[in-house]
Amino acid sequence: MRKYNFCAGPSALPTEVLEELKEEILDWKKYGLSVMEMSHRSKEVVEIAETAKQDFIDLLKIDSNYDVLFIQGGASLQFSMVPMNLLSSSNSLSNYLNVGQWSKKAIKEAKKYGKLNISASSEDNSFKNYPSPNNWQIDDSAAYLHLVMNETIDGACLRNHDNLPAIDLVADCSSCILSEPLDVSKFALIYSGAQKNIGPAGLAIIIIRRDLLIDRDDLPAMMSYKTYSDSDSMYNTPPTFAWYLSGKVFKWLKNKGGLENQKKENESKANKLYSFIDSSDFYTNDVGIESRSIMNVPFLMNDESLNPKFLKESEEAGLLNLAGHRSVGGMRASIYNAVPEEGVDALIEFMKNFEKQNG
Ligand SMILES: *Cc1c(COP(=O)(O)O)cnc(C)c1O
Repeated sequence: MRKYNFCAGPSALPTEVLEELKEEILDWKKYGLSVMEMSHRSKEVVEIAETAKQDFIDLLKIDSNYDVLFIQGGASLQFSMVPMNLLSSSNSLSNYLNVGQWSKKAIKEAKKYGKLNISASSEDNSFKNYPSPNNWQIDDSAAYLHLVMNETIDGACLRNHDNLPAIDLVADCSSCILSEPLDVSKFALIYSGAQKNIGPAGLAIIIIRRDLLIDRDDLPAMMSYKTYSDSDSMYNTPPTFAWYLSGKVFKWLKNKGGLENQKKENESKANKLYSFIDSSDFYTNDVGIESRSIMNVPFLMNDESLNPKFLKESEEAGLLNLAGHRSVGGMRASIYNAVPEEGVDALIEFMKNFEKQNG
């Protein structure tokens, strides 16, 4: 029996997608083998890869002045690849927002490649309020401004994109990509690790404006965006299985009505959970209302000694992986696209009962 999985990543995949995989795993379309065992140069795999890329482009309505790259190494490698590729000997200055645990990791890497201006920080406030773009202190001479759109661990997110600055923006969208429509044209580069809202781990998808694809002979080939763009992300053997399964997730999203529909579903799930938490004296979420993530909902109980009991009993009730990140403690429900509304309903039911018995 499949249980509800609230893991922050690797996270839930749609059951329909896994059922399709089950059908195809031994014998893909009567070819007598699985996709994992096929050459990445074969007509079949190239077609799977191209279709997945096109469906991703369609979902996000990405204009043709951007390329979409499939790169191994997760989002963490992008913390390095971004400054390696976007900084140069003529401009090694960048702006970074310090808005959560992942921002700090990105900043730590970028410091190795140049000078860095912190444009805004919510660290004094334990990352509870995402700084408004109106208050970002931007050095316009810098090559770009980097932000983590949705801080997966802290549950804080930039959802209003009305007043974004004109400087080239680089966004880590690992935990919010495909959760709602996104105006890609406001960004120079967007990257996302796959294992949150795209597909299996092992892959990151990069959306990059084409003018940023420049020859960088000073970089290792595998660290240069241009290498991936010139080779349709097949300079070496890509993670074909992750790519293939991600393609199935894109089809699943398209068939359900695309990102407009996801926005509706995700807002409905998140509103239910936040409303319940806010109405309770037993549970709290202290992220600023305007900064609340619709994907990652951390919450605390007033009596923290109950945490192990909560986690044990929720697991027994078929609600998996509700522990908060080890750096912040408490609980966290990640309610990505593949977590159905019934899963959120079941979680709220469990939380109500737990409060009744322990409150
Ligand atoms: C999970 C996550 C990462 C790290 O992803 P890896 O694929 O494990 O490198 C980076 N940024 C954000 C926002 C994340 O949620």
